[in-house]
Amino acid sequence: MPPLPSPPDRITQTLVRHGLRQTPVRRAVLAAVAGKGYALSGPEIEREIGPGTTDRITLYRTLKSFEQHGLLHRVPDDTDVLRYAACSIECSAEAHFDNHVHFRCGTCTHTYCLSQVAVPAVALPGGFRADRRHYLLSGTCQLCQPAG
Ligand SMILES: [Zn+2]
Ligand SMILES: [Zn+2]
Repeated sequence: MPPLPSPPDRITQTLVRHGLRQTPVRRAVLAAVAGKGYALSGPEIEREIGPGTTDRITLYRTLKSFEQHGLLHRVPDDTDVLRYAACSIECSAEAHFDNHVHFRCGTCTHTYCLSQVAVPAVALPGGFRADRRHYLLSGTCQLCQPAG
């Protein structure tokens, strides 16, 4: 792959903003996840970036580092599959996985980040302190709504 000339694109800007050096693998993984409106599992990301781009260890190391730096977050699901989605610009390394609602479509089985929908405040009884707020709705997404 020949190096891309400037000006910096969005992928470059995102990596630079989070203080990460650019590597072909990081660019490919970020492009794959950011290019979708829904969350991708590890094997799906592997498929997106194509065979030969990287080995599995580097891929999962990249995902982990992106998660720690606030570029990606894990998406909860009602299955055991771990999925990743691109964080919005407001995300930080400390708070980025639980500030918005996720939506799972039963028809296309995609899990979407509804980054514009904040997790509603929940009043807990005394003595309970929540560390994570995973809010998952399921139903039918925009694309799968029956016509008419
Ligand atoms: Zn759908
Ligand atoms: Zn999300």
